[in-house]
Amino acid sequence: MKKNDIIKGKIEYVSDDYKGVLRANGITIYVPYLTKDDGVEIRIDDIKGNTAHGSLVKIIKESEYRIKPKCDSYMRCGSCKLRHVDYKYELELKKKYVENVYKKEGLKVKVNPVIGMESPKNYRNKVIASFKTGKGRIEYGMYEEDTHSVVYNPSCAIQNDLLNEILKTIKNAIESLKIRLEDNGGVLRHVMLRIGVKTNEVLVCFVTNNEMFPARGELVKTITKAHKEIKTITQNINPRRTSVVFGDRERILYGPGYIEDILLSNRYRISTRSFYQVNPIQTEKLYNKAIELAEIEKNDVVLDCYSGIGTIALSVSKNAKEVKGVEIVRSAVQDAITNAKANGIKNARFYLDDAKDFMDSYSGKVDCVFIDPPREGSNPLFLNALMNLSPRRIVYISCNPQTQARDITILKKKYNISEVYPVDMFPRTVHVECIVLLQKK
Ligand code: SAH
Repeated sequence: MKKNDIIKGKIEYVSDDYKGVLRANGITIYVPYLTKDDGVEIRIDDIKGNTAHGSLVKIIKESEYRIKPKCDSYMRCGSCKLRHVDYKYELELKKKYVENVYKKEGLKVKVNPVIGMESPKNYRNKVIASFKTGKGRIEYGMYEEDTHSVVYNPSCAIQNDLLNEILKTIKNAIESLKIRLEDNGGVLRHVMLRIGVKTNEVLVCFVTNNEMFPARGELVKTITKAHKEIKTITQNINPRRTSVVFGDRERILYGPGYIEDILLSNRYRISTRSFYQVNPIQTEKLYNKAIELAEIEKNDVVLDCYSGIGTIALSVSKNAKEVKGVEIVRSAVQDAITNAKANGIKNARFYLDDAKDFMDSYSGKVDCVFIDPPREGSNPLFLNALMNLSPRRIVYISCNPQTQARDITILKKKYNISEVYPVDMFPRTVHVECIVLLQKK
């Protein structure tokens, strides 16, 4: 077998990176966007030893797991990877993926069926669209995989419908006001939108490379007139030329600088730079499961590590004696403190700190700890300090099963790991969130 050979065959299974796998002449071939039982013709793109990567030439017989991807930009946009499979099968694939991740770390655990969405579409409450000057028109969208070319996709099927509409209005306003983008001598780079799905309040943030933002007054006027849901508009200034979207400076162009949303029974203030879960329907299922597993008792002291705007701590505050959150982003901690007050919660405290430093210097009673770190996971210093505090239960929530399983290999010295509960926070993409309960040995 060599590069550019055309191979006919049937996909045997789907790999952990969600590629279709077929075997021919002792070689295992990985092909993106294919699924189990697809009868296919593929082209070999590269081959090393017994492993090859290929691309699809044509599908000869469609698998029963295959569906028509309902998106015109699918296979170009870097965001969704599982639009070509039936949603029920997607949840099975994600479960198998989590099982394999845990197995590879040598952890024997039961992985429960993935808690999915009833209607897995238009769920994202946040959009970061990059704006580019295309041929004769302004274009915006997500980046193409591994590149900086923008895939123009005005009706993204995972984004909230109203946010898709507002993006169109912004594009039209930019064109009619002749606002120039960064790639054309102007200052505008990205637009971030966020909606509180329960309150219908929208935050718009323009990311520019300079404080000066010509015609911003007219832009604000035009879009707020068109969409009364826009409650606030901010400008973030990021002069750096890196792939990081936001800079350190921000100013308010319209409204109070934040929106609000309701999650479980509390109301939350969310500022531009604060983390907020992107799929609010699934977040409630995630939190309910995590809270159920925590089995908090009324005299418990509970820590919420990596607390964002305080959503987990404040959701469990009524079950506990005291809750404490720690978070590294200043605006998120400020939001959390305001959120506690606004919801009349008196037994919550929030700390601006690196979780590992906080944990390392903490001395006091702790009964239950929630950990919800970013994708890179937690760190050994934090985990060892946590084990020394010896809480009865640890509920570890993660959007990256790999770093979660890695961290659990440390915690398992003193904690029994029971089951994994995956929750599909990101349908149609490869991502999956997991909750794990750890109980003191
Ligand atoms: N539990 C929250 C936030 C989870 S996201 C929720 O469900 O909404 C992870 C959070 O960890 C983010 O808010 C991020 O700002 C914060 N974070 C990242 N690194 C951190 C660190 N080293 N110490 C404390 N917080 C950190």
